[in-house]
This record gives sequence, C-alpha cells and structure tokens, in this order.
Amino acid sequence: MKDQYDCLNKAQLSFEYLHTNSTTHTFLFGALAELVDNSKDAGAKNLDIYTCNNPYLRGGFYLAFLDDGCGMNYDDVFNVIVFGKSAKRHSLVSNQIGQYGNGLKSGAMRISKDFILFTKKDNIGTCLFISRTFHDEQHISQIICPMPCFDLTTQQPVQNTDDDQINGTLTYTYDRSKHELEMQLIMKYSPFQTMNDLFKQFDLIKSSSGTLIVLYNLKLSDIGEPELDIKTDPYDILIDSRNRRNLLTDDDDSENSRGDYTPFCFSIPLEYRSFRAYVSILYYEPRMRITIQGRRVVTKKISYTLYKPRKYQFKSTRFKTRSEQEIKKCEKELLSLEERIREVDSQVHHLQHISVTTATDERMQLRKLQINATDLKDLANRLCNGLVKKRMEMNTTKTLAFIFGLNIQNRSSDGVFVYHCGRLIKMYEKVGQANKKILYCRGVVGIVDIPSIVLETTHNKQSFVDEKEYHFLLKNMGEYMRQYWTDTGIEHYVQEFWETYGYRDDQLDRPPSNDPEPVKRRQVAIPMLIQCDQCLKWRRLPYHGNVEPLTQSQLESWRCSDNSDILNNTCIDNEKLDLIPEGELKPKSQGTHNENRTGSRAVSPPARSSINNKRISNAEISSTTANINSKIATRLTVAPTSTTQLENRTLPSSRLLSAKAKTKKKRKRLIKTQSSKSKSTAIGVMSDDEDESESFTSVMQQTHHQTSTSVRLAPTNEVYLIDDDDDDNTENIDDINNRRPPPTIGARLLAMYQGVRRSGIVLSVNDKCGTFKMRFDEFPTAEFDYSFSYKSSTWSYIGTAPPPIDPTITSVETIPNEEEPLRSIAQKFKSLIKFMLPPNWELTREQISSMSNDDLSQLDMTVFMHSYREKMTKIVEQHKADEVRWRASAQHIQEEATKLLNLSGMSIPTDCSIKDFEEHIQRNMKQSGNIS
Ligand SMILES: [Zn+2]
Repeated sequence: MKDQYDCLNKAQLSFEYLHTNSTTHTFLFGALAELVDNSKDAGAKNLDIYTCNNPYLRGGFYLAFLDDGCGMNYDDVFNVIVFGKSAKRHSLVSNQIGQYGNGLKSGAMRISKDFILFTKKDNIGTCLFISRTFHDEQHISQIICPMPCFDLTTQQPVQNTDDDQINGTLTYTYDRSKHELEMQLIMKYSPFQTMNDLFKQFDLIKSSSGTLIVLYNLKLSDIGEPELDIKTDPYDILIDSRNRRNLLTDDDDSENSRGDYTPFCFSIPLEYRSFRAYVSILYYEPRMRITIQGRRVVTKKISYTLYKPRKYQFKSTRFKTRSEQEIKKCEKELLSLEERIREVDSQVHHLQHISVTTATDERMQLRKLQINATDLKDLANRLCNGLVKKRMEMNTTKTLAFIFGLNIQNRSSDGVFVYHCGRLIKMYEKVGQANKKILYCRGVVGIVDIPSIVLETTHNKQSFVDEKEYHFLLKNMGEYMRQYWTDTGIEHYVQEFWETYGYRDDQLDRPPSNDPEPVKRRQVAIPMLIQCDQCLKWRRLPYHGNVEPLTQSQLESWRCSDNSDILNNTCIDNEKLDLIPEGELKPKSQGTHNENRTGSRAVSPPARSSINNKRISNAEISSTTANINSKIATRLTVAPTSTTQLENRTLPSSRLLSAKAKTKKKRKRLIKTQSSKSKSTAIGVMSDDEDESESFTSVMQQTHHQTSTSVRLAPTNEVYLIDDDDDDNTENIDDINNRRPPPTIGARLLAMYQGVRRSGIVLSVNDKCGTFKMRFDEFPTAEFDYSFSYKSSTWSYIGTAPPPIDPTITSVETIPNEEEPLRSIAQKFKSLIKFMLPPNWELTREQISSMSNDDLSQLDMTVFMHSYREKMTKIVEQHKADEVRWRASAQHIQEEATKLLNLSGMSIPTDCSIKDFEEHIQRNMKQSGNIS
C-alpha cells in the first residue's frame, strides 16, 4: 500500500473479493439488472440507460444509468463501500429487491473494469470512484475509493468541520489534501478529465435528487469485441451473438434442428438476447419509465398478455428454510447489537463520570455517543419486533398465486416465469411440458411472484438458495399447469385451436404464420394492455375491428389521452384491470382422464407409464371399450354435429359403469399399486416435516384408504382404473371414427376449421390416403379448401349420415334428457348474442346459430363485451352530438324568425327562451286575429 493514499476512504473488502463477487453473474443482463434494481429501490420514476462513444475507453464506449430516485448523501455512499452495509438492510418491513452496495459492486464490476457514480441529494453532489485500472497500475491490493463531495450551487467541495456536519452525514469531514488527491485520481483514471466534464455529469441529474452511474473500460469477449453489442440495433443493447458461446449459431438458423438438447434450441427467447426485451418483463408490476438508448421500453405485464388466463391459489407450510435462516441471522445480529449497546452505554457512563470539565471536545464526544446509543437502541427495538414477526410467520401456511395462460403470440415461448418480490428471477422454466414434441401443455405460460418470506434468491438474483424448496415449488406448478390445461378445454380440439392462430402442428417450435388472418386473430384474441407514458397507469385498449395496430413509436409514447375508450382517457382515471378468473386444483380424475385422450396419439401424459395397470385383464378392457363403442356409435347416428362432446360425456359415464362392476377386492389391489407410484397433489397443503414424496404418498394413501373402504366408488378413483390405458383408449376413438362411413363427393359436412365448426361440401376423396378435401360455405374459394382425415374426429355429417357400414349397429337411441337444459341454455345464449351483436363482428348471425356448444364455450366474451360497449358508447355519443347540433340550429331559426317578426311589427325580445318565444307569437297571433 502506498502511504500517499492512507488518507483516502477504503472499502472494507479486498480486491480479490471484488473480483470474485463480480463473477457471480454468468448472465450478463442479470448484472445490468442489478443497476436497474438500484434505481427502482431508490424510488425512481425515470431511468435512462444509454451509451456514449469514447474511443479512448476499452470497448469504445461507456454505459450509463441515470435515474431520478432519492439519491444518496455522503453517508449512504460511504455505506456502499462497506461490505454488507446497506441502508435497505434494516428496513425490515420493506420488500425491496436487494442491497444497494452489493448489487452495485457485483453488477458494475461484472460489466466493466471501472465505474464512477454521481449522486445528488439536498443540492450536494457526491462521487464514488472505484477503478480497478488504477489499482492494477499502482499495485494496490486494498480498495481505495475516492469520494469527493460538492456543493452543487457553488461547485466547490463541501468544506465542513467536525462541528459543522452537513445534512445527515456523520462520516464526512473536509480535508483539503485528501480532496485534491481524490480529484487527481478521478481526472486521471475516469473518462471525465476536467472539472467542467465532471459537473456536466451532475447536471445530467435534472431532478432534485438522483444518481448517475457510468461504467467504463467494458469487458471484452474472447474475440476482443465488447460483450455488449450496441451497434446491431442502435436502440437496444444486445448480447453479442458470438458471445452466447454454445447457445446458438445464429438467431434465424432454425432450419436445422441441431442442438436439440440445449435449453436454447432453435431460437433463443428474445429476453436472453435483447436487454430491451428483458427489461420489459423484469418487474411483475412495472412502475418505472425506462429508456434504453433514448427510446422508451414498452413494459409488459405477462399475465395480461396471455389468452384465457387463470389464477390458482397454492398453499403450503413447507417453505420454512427462509424463515429459519432469517431468524438465525436476526438473533445473531441482535446479540451483537446488544453487545455494542452495552459498550456505548459504559462509554457514556464513563464520560459522564469523569467529564465534569467543560471541554468542548469531550462534550461533543459525549453528545455523539449518546446519539449513537439512542440509534442503536432504536435499531435493536426494530430488530426485536421483526424477530417476533418472523417467528410467527415461520409456521404459517404460505399462499402463492399461480397464473397460467396461453401464449398465442408465440407458442414455443412457453414455461414458467418466476418472480421474487416482483423481480424476475427465472424465465421459461419447463414444468409441465415434459416433451417438446407433443402438443400437451404447449404454449402454456405460468407466472408466480414469490414473497421474500417463502424463498431467498442467490446473490446474483438468478436462482434460489434452497434448491429443494424451489424444486418443490416447480413441481407443484407443473401439477397446476396440467389442471390449467384441462380447464382451458382446448385439448379436445388442440390442433384446430392452434391452427386458428396460424400454427402448424408439425412445427411445434416455430413462430406462427404471418398471414393477415391469423395475425389479426392473435391481435383480437387479447386486447392490448399498455402503460401510459405519463402517469404509468395500465390501460386496456378496447378492441377495434379494422383499425391498424399501433406502431412501435406510438406504443412507446402512448398516453391515456390517446385512449379511444372515453371512460379511461385521462391520467386521473383509476387503473382498472380485469380480474383474472380463479380456478382450483381438482383431484386427479377428469383432469388426467382428459389429458390422456386428447384425441391425438402424439399426446401422451408425462410422468406416467402404461405398465402400471397390467393387473386389469384384457377381457375387462375389451368389455369396457365394447360398451363405449356401442353407445357412442348409436348416438353418433342421431346427433352427428357434436362428436367430441358426445365422446366427452359418454366415456366417463360408461367407465363409471364398468368400474362399478368390478369386485371390491380387485379394486383394493389396484389402488394399492397405483398409490405407491402416484404423485398426485390432490391436496394443496403439504405436511411439513416429511420428505415431499413421502408426504404426497401419505396424503394419497389416506384418500385411498377412505374411498376403498366405503361402498361407493368416489370419482377420484375411477381414473386409476382407466387412466393408463391410453393406447386402448385412442383406439376406441379411432374405432368410433372408423364406424362412421367415409364421406363421398358432394356430401354435406360440418368440420372444425380455424377454431369454428363450419359447414361445407366434400370436393374430393382420396381413399388411398384416407383423406378428403372440403370446401366451406363461408369461404367458397380454393385457397380455403382443407383436407381432413377420414378418421379425424373434427368433422361430422350434417343431418343423417349414410347408413353405417357395421350391420351390428341398428338400434337408435335418443339423446338423453339431461342434455335438454344445456341445449336450451345454449339456444338462449345464442339469441342473446345475436341480439347484442356489435357491428362488423367477426361472426354473422347465421354462423352463431350453427355454433356447437363447444364453440360457444370458446367464445371470447371479453372481446365481445368490449365491442358491445364500444358500440353503445358510440350511439350515445352520436345522440349527444346530434342534440347539440339540433339545439344550435333551433336557436338559429328562432333568432332569424325573431328578426323577421320584429320587422313585420311584432315585438319579440331577441334573447328570450323558446317557450317565451312561442307565447309571444301566440299572443301576437291572437291580437292580430282580434284586429282583423
Ligand atoms: Zn396516463
């Protein structure tokens, strides 16, 4: 250590530590996000992230973060360089993301070799300068941190004495030689080499307080280029594709399906490549206006970008580690604090005892100590209260909200997004989509925001400390995702569903088609949620039939006043967000059941093997299937319009019958085999002191025990009898479809096309391939013709089908009465929709009449009601405008008439009301009548 620097502030950590600390960030944007977090925690409303070219710096530019947050005084800055000391730390109630000190150091040091921080508070500007370049050159191992402090009005260093402390700072005392040395180092090693340059940086903080951090001498990649690419897109900061190591060769290289096993196969999600995209979802509740390279980041609330969102409450008492650690830490801290208090107290006593003298020095010292003691006691009190709260919290049941929805904008970008205290930690975690090759749960996005009491993040905020508990969480999210998949109901027509939005089922990892029709459908399906550039409130944009979508620059500058929804077009209007409908995890009956029989062979449920059920004899299976087949086949001939629905309803009930027929003994044995392998989470609250799988099993065993001893078989159990026979099951459906006679040219059919059941005619048949081509009545041109397989369950005959080929089926069963109320409700619902139909609605009245119940349940009522409200608002507006016009014109006529009548000798005041005017005329008429 060079003696000359002895007078300067030193960080209470070693140089090696600083280096090691910075390497915790493997994900470069994670390091940048630390700096964004700091601004957010400082309460900033605005944050500008920009670069500035400077050929003298390594990498050729510096990177700056400028915010209008609360800024820091000298003490706060001083605490940054003291390891582990952070102003945020003791605010026990706060839910803040991190500790300023650590995030700043590790984040900044990951990106660059050096940084300089400018902060402004109470018109005092403080710098913090940490330069590894300087340390390297001078071979210094201790970290020396120049921290000059200026009065921003006079641009002079703050000159105080110990007696004359500047506002809120206990640690700063002016020392001329120290200040000069500090300035010397800054001028030499920072990009700002004159006083003028330096104050220009303070001037950039336009608000009364705020912070600017400049990172320079950026790290270079192996090929000598900056890791951050600012050239490819001038309005973004990208991770240089050559730096993404083995992640990918090129973004558009999705033609070759190489590298299938990396999590980033094909296209890396944008959030891993573009800082703009990453920042747009960095927070669960974005409330900061962030600009990158001068353009605003259009923030996103992921849960509101999803189709058919649904929320589930998950309860568990398992998350304890976090509380235990916190309590231990707190207890330790309290102990050391108490020790310090005792020390200070005895010092005070000592001073009081001896200092009968009136020496100023001693009086000062005593006063300082007394203040210090009070502060410490205050802190100890708060810690104590916090500790009590934490002990109580430890054993409580923690509830987490899981939100799921379908990403119809980009199906392949699915998985779970994990936030912690509102900050994104994990993206695209695959929990329910075990196999990339199947449609099951494809496109489902899950979101969870974990409170700090449940889990603790690792230092780099890219993972969680307790991995076991985190995996427990993910596993449960997987269960809920499966439930969601069942709840959406799209599994019955999953291929058609995705086709509607421009996806091909043989290209699961591709982006959707850009044809205008599917593009429009995707836009219409989810009305846009946008954040006002001014008040930062979120507004839902009403659906507009044929209006062009907003351009990027319109999105960036969008304000409430741009809203065409006149009820929400000022910044003072309250934010109104739609509530996300709630769902719940049902015992694994219908759920698993349906998931197995999505009608597509490709769809096989993960984590389940079909060997489980070998104990059911083949005879039993065939008797079950025969039963189903005969039932369905007969029904099909009667009501061919809704094949899928009939299947849905018939299959479980016939299974129930066959299940009931089984002997009790057999049932018991079967259940036993199942329960030991089952991983169902029928019950959300897990017992806490057992291993997770044990607790699952015990819960399941209890359930089974109860049900198997009771006489009746509860619905939960049926699934275990049949849910593993997927192969047989699929064959059943194929059998059913095989029994339907193949179409002939000219036959009238109903078929699912673009998510809607549509009528049409068979154009051609191909017996060899077992396919036929159909032309739809609504789109009678060749471009919309579509081929179906004979076996597909998505088409059916209109009216009575040609006589069935299988001669064994002769009896005709009528539709059971239980369907009657449903039919009647559907009918009424259709009438209601037709009655309220908004103009230019995508469906005609005729199309609505021909909708199946399935189609009806798929109808997006939010969009419908938006359009309806819009239409009504327009009518009311029109009437109001008409009224104003009519009034004006009536008044004009009255004025003209008055003039005319006055000329002809009638005296009528020019400014009387219409009523008075009429009376005047009548009176005058009467008079003139009398005269004549
Ligand atoms: Zn606004």
